[in-house]
Amino acid sequence: MNKETYMGVDVSPLSYEEITKELNQRIQDNQQSTIIAVNPEKIIASQNDETLRDLINGSTYQIPDGVGVLLASRLKGGEIRSRVTGVDMMDRLLQMAAEEGYRVFFYGAKEEVVSKAISNIQETYPSIQVAGYENGYVQDQEALIQKINDAKADIMFVALGSPKQEQWIRANKERLPVKVFQGVGGSFDVYAG
Ligand code: UDP
Repeated sequence: MNKETYMGVDVSPLSYEEITKELNQRIQDNQQSTIIAVNPEKIIASQNDETLRDLINGSTYQIPDGVGVLLASRLKGGEIRSRVTGVDMMDRLLQMAAEEGYRVFFYGAKEEVVSKAISNIQETYPSIQVAGYENGYVQDQEALIQKINDAKADIMFVALGSPKQEQWIRANKERLPVKVFQGVGGSFDVYAG
């Protein structure tokens, strides 16, 4: 897959439409994908943190969520032409899920935040298939893994803050039927309003 590299950190030079289209195909092909948002702060932090850099570069898509990455691409003659933000990427995936009938699981944030976010999302996308949800403070991880498996989730949004959410995805993705994981930080709070 085509990438641009900034100080050793990969960034995908793809638009929302291109990523969404590829992800839809990857779901059909039964391939697992992970999405991480990249901004200049994470690129700087990666200089002294090999684990963080591996977490970013090991993801399928590193979206340029930050105007600094866009500027760097312009200066370097790269192809990134617009920001791809975490919350807007999530919205595109919700739209795709509603259209295609993919089952969505939401994990993270406080109980009242995640449940309110889901009810707002259901208002915007009435046909969305909510596979299930869990707040981000649950202790029993084995029960959570079982719950996501039982829910037969296709797409999962993980909102535990970064890099905790990406570490969680990396540690658990092989035990889950989920095809697309996105670490979304504070996005459930945004949807909850
Ligand atoms: N959070 C959580 N469990 C934790 C720590 C954080 O569910 O153990 C949630 C928190 O409630 C908030 C989100 O993760 O909804 C973190 O958002 P933040 O804006 O801090 O993340 P960032 O976008 O900066 O990565």
